[in-house]
Amino acid sequence: MIVLKAEWEIEKMRRAGALTAQARDYVAALVRPGLTTRELDEAARRFIAERGGTPSFLGYQGFPASICASVNGVVVHGIPGDQVLRDGDIVSLDLGVIVDGYHGDTAVTVAVGRVSQEVQELLDATRRSLLAGVAQARPGNHLSDISHAVEEVATGAGFSVVVDFVGHGIGREMHEDPQIPNYGPPGRGVQLKRGMVLAIEPMINMGGPDVRIRDDGWTVETIDGKPSAHFEHTVAVGDPPDVLTAP
Ligand code: MG
Repeated sequence: MIVLKAEWEIEKMRRAGALTAQARDYVAALVRPGLTTRELDEAARRFIAERGGTPSFLGYQGFPASICASVNGVVVHGIPGDQVLRDGDIVSLDLGVIVDGYHGDTAVTVAVGRVSQEVQELLDATRRSLLAGVAQARPGNHLSDISHAVEEVATGAGFSVVVDFVGHGIGREMHEDPQIPNYGPPGRGVQLKRGMVLAIEPMINMGGPDVRIRDDGWTVETIDGKPSAHFEHTVAVGDPPDVLTAP
């Protein structure tokens, strides 16, 4: 069941989204060769706590950190730790923040130092696919118009879409209905209306779409080991769509 939000709830989600976006941009700006992913996590935790938010990932189904840090062939749900970022890596930073009972959720993939042109194209196409999906989050459109827009941009750039993980509704819970695949024909699924708030999050692979979960139970990686990118915004359906995690 999709929970529709009242205008006053969307106001609260705007505050949660703003802090989530600030934390994302703060941590993204710290990324450089030589840093560990744990240092990024600790920075995020401090930043969020100092501003009165609660990191929603910490303890979620036992997740041990405040952000997911997913390097190169890791798609999502990478656990921050001793891994040292090196020049030419990419790192996906995914984080959620609760403010006054409402969630924000956002992700960005950042280049560490200088990356290859091919990797830069993966980042650019994934960001563009997110924005194309967001642009469809309008009253009267159908849910899969978002999915289709994401897929068209990603596959049009020569990359593949992860199908095993999807976007989601968001509100008082981090994960609410509906699920939002990043692929499929347009015009399907529920009709979008005001009051729906969606976390749209393309996960796009340079190689094939197949992924697996490591023995740690969290880390999702590409089977072919090729890089993967992930961008996410929390968006209130509207005309124009209202990006709650805008920079
Ligand atoms: Mg999400």
